[in-house]
Amino acid sequence: MSTNRRTLRRSGSLPTSRTVRIVILGQAAVGKTAMAVRFITKRFIGEYDPTLETIYRHEVAINGDVVHFEILDTAGQEEDALLIEEKIRWGDGFLIVYSVTDRCSFDEVMRLCFLVNHIHSGGGSGGGAGRRGGGSSNGHEPPPMLIVANKKDLEYDRMVTAEDGESLSRGLKVPLREISARDSWEETAGAFHALYADVAQQLDASPPSFRRRAVSKLMEKIPRIHSGSALGAAGRSFSFGSFRDFLPE
Ligand code: GDP
Ligand code: MG
Repeated sequence: MSTNRRTLRRSGSLPTSRTVRIVILGQAAVGKTAMAVRFITKRFIGEYDPTLETIYRHEVAINGDVVHFEILDTAGQEEDALLIEEKIRWGDGFLIVYSVTDRCSFDEVMRLCFLVNHIHSGGGSGGGAGRRGGGSSNGHEPPPMLIVANKKDLEYDRMVTAEDGESLSRGLKVPLREISARDSWEETAGAFHALYADVAQQLDASPPSFRRRAVSKLMEKIPRIHSGSALGAAGRSFSFGSFRDFLPE
C-alpha cells in the first residue's frame, strides 16, 4: 500500500504528510536552542536557559509536502551515555552543531558523528532496538546528518576557518553549512530543509513501517512545545508568546 502511495506522489497527484524527527546535537552554547527557536518563530532571541531540553513541534510545507517536524533540542551532553543513546535512537536526522568561535565545539563534531553512526548501525548498549530498517539486505546506511557551523557573523572571534570545516566535512562524508542563526532565518531554515530532504529520501527508500519505533518513557518525559501550526491545522497550540515562559527573565 505504501508503495502505491509513493508511486502516486511521484506523479504529483498526492501531497505527502510526514513526521520527521530531528535531533540537534553539539556542545553547550554553540546555538542549538537559538537555531530551533529561530527556525520555528523566525526570531532570534538572545538568551535561553542552557539546561532546557525540549521537543519543538512545528509544521511546514516543503515542496508540497506537509512536514511535521519534531525537533529535539538537547542540553547537557555529558550526561549518562544511555540517555544520549536513547535520544539518538529516536531521531531520523541529525544536526551536529559547532560554533566557529569555539575550537573545542568543533573537535566534538567528529565524536558526535561517530556516535550517531554507531548507534544507528545497531551498536550501543541498547542492542537490537537501534536496528529499525538497518537489518535490510542493503545493509547499514548512515542516518542523514548535517554539520552546522554557527555564528559565522562573529568574524573577529572566529577560531575555526571555513576550510577547517570543509575538510572535516569531506573526511566524515557529512555535508556542512556555515550559518548565522542571529543574522539569517534563511540560512537557519535552509539547514533544516536540507536535512529534511535527506531524511525524506531515506524514508522513501525504506518503508515507514520498518522505521517507526515505540516511544520510550524517557522521550515522553521531555517537554514539548507546539509552535502553532503554520498551516492552520487543528491541535493544541501554544502561542509564540508561550516560548517566553521557557526563557529566563
Ligand atoms: P545552546 O547551548 O547550544 O542551546 O546555545 P544557545 O542557543 O543557548 O546560544 C548560546 C549563546 O550563543 C547565546 O548567547 C546566543 O545568543 C548566542 N548565539 C547563538 N547563535 C548565534 C549566532 O548565530 N551568532 C551570535 N553572534 N550569537 C549566537
Ligand atoms: Mg540550549
